Amino acid sequence: MIKLVIDQKRCVTCGNCDAWLPGLTECVKHGGLMISENNPNVNAEAIQKAIDCCPLDALSLEVMQ
Ligand code: SF4
Repeated sequence: MIKLVIDQKRCVTCGNCDAWLPGLTECVKHGGLMISENNPNVNAEAIQKAIDCCPLDALSLEVMQ
């Protein structure tokens, strides 16, 4: 399982990442988004695009044990 982590100290809730992962900005309140490889709404390209479009480098991936 992978977790897309939002650094809440950096995030300014600009909403850029919502273009690739709708609703992601809302996840700021919860500290991150659990990503299942089986979720058809989330794909690797969208995740990477969301990370790349963040102007504050607030997004990163964390592999869960
Ligand atoms: S693009 Fe970055 S700064 Fe903007 S809402 Fe997403 S995580 Fe926050």
